[in-house]
Amino acid sequence: MNERDSEAVAAQLAAKGYALAASEATADVVLLNTCSVRDAAEQKALGKMRALAGDVRRSRRGVVLGFLGCMAQSRGQELIDELPDVDLVLGTQKLHRTAEYLDDILAGRRDKVVEVGEEPGSEAAVKEHLLAGSGVRRSATAFVSIMQGCNQHCTFCIVPYTRGVERSRPIPDIVAECRELVVRGVKEVTLLGQIVTSYGKREIPSRDGKSAFVQLLEAVHGIEGLERIRFTAPHPKGYGDDLVEAYARLAKLCEHAHLPVQSGSDRVLKLMHRGYICNRFREIICKLRQVRPGIGITTDIIVGFPGETEADFAETMGLMREIEFDQAYIFKYSPRRNTPAATMPDPVSVEVREERNGRLLAVVNEIGRRKYERYVGRCVQILVEGPSRKNPARLEGRTRTNKIVVFQGSDRHIGQLPELRITGTGSFTLYGDPVVQNPA
Ligand code: SAH
Repeated sequence: MNERDSEAVAAQLAAKGYALAASEATADVVLLNTCSVRDAAEQKALGKMRALAGDVRRSRRGVVLGFLGCMAQSRGQELIDELPDVDLVLGTQKLHRTAEYLDDILAGRRDKVVEVGEEPGSEAAVKEHLLAGSGVRRSATAFVSIMQGCNQHCTFCIVPYTRGVERSRPIPDIVAECRELVVRGVKEVTLLGQIVTSYGKREIPSRDGKSAFVQLLEAVHGIEGLERIRFTAPHPKGYGDDLVEAYARLAKLCEHAHLPVQSGSDRVLKLMHRGYICNRFREIICKLRQVRPGIGITTDIIVGFPGETEADFAETMGLMREIEFDQAYIFKYSPRRNTPAATMPDPVSVEVREERNGRLLAVVNEIGRRKYERYVGRCVQILVEGPSRKNPARLEGRTRTNKIVVFQGSDRHIGQLPELRITGTGSFTLYGDPVVQNPA
């Protein structure tokens, strides 16, 4: 989501006559878009800004420094009090005004700008995309923001305080954006939101038993030339039968679901205010595997939530082994300001959080290795995205189940959907060779 927001801000600035600098060392404006989900992300952004401010002071250039996004939203003026070299602090509902405020600062009309208010309609402001070749690899696949905010109020999570209440864009606007992307060569869109399955809950009534989100999927599915649809992140409570049925019916919907379970203990799930129990989660996975055998299932887990006992953690380990997720992102619980969990009793020590993280990671890696090895010898379709992140001399793309495949190819493959035979595996990576079609 942040990557998408950053891209939209860059595209808006480019449209106003700003140009993307090759590096921060040559830039006149450096903006850090920030995440607040865990303390480590905040510390990283603060450290980075401290280093930038030091460079700027040393070389005395009139460089404008700014914080955007979630941390800007939650800390506001505090950030300038702490780092006086910062000129601009823009919250999550003001991102589309970045050019306006930068103009004010650069023209000397304002010295410091801190804007963190709410703005009706801001959910519709993340819509510009950078053209391919402008420094960001965005040709085959694109992210499309469908909503902002979150109403779930999980007790560990800062997002409702930084992103505000749920606000959704209308279906025709989203479809128009996707259509435009397809005209520009995009083959795959990923619909984005904090909880996409809550899309349009208040704005768009259910129709024929279909939620607003499923109606949106159908509308996007109808776009000619679009090959693949993904979305992230859904919430398990949003996996009604209408969505399961959409997987069966909509061929462009990729067989991958990122379903954050967070814990394998019903007691902890309740403390987290997740709104489901493990058996409901199992039932959803079971239904998805029935309609789409081989579907890739990934998840997020928090270890060391306040009050998590060794028995609770054992249930999480058990669920991991039982479901056999293709990949799981494990997070050590990080207390966030103003969230209910931050003041809950029985916090788990840092050492125990570390230790549980390590144990769970070993299980995730072992299962991942086994699941990836099963691909060897099989043929899969990938969408080629661009140079491999691990080895830029090679290309990479993704299977419909969202696994990265690295192969030897050339630029002309980018945006294509070749069949590859899988020849080997690495850590959560597949290696393959294009399948040579025999002339008939
Ligand atoms: N709403 C989105 C994004 C949430 S942040 C989603 O559901 O995917 C992504 C993940 O970060 C969450 O799923 C959760 O596992 C983790 N997370 C959120 N708050 C956290 C916290 N305070 N400590 C540790 N991990 C956290």
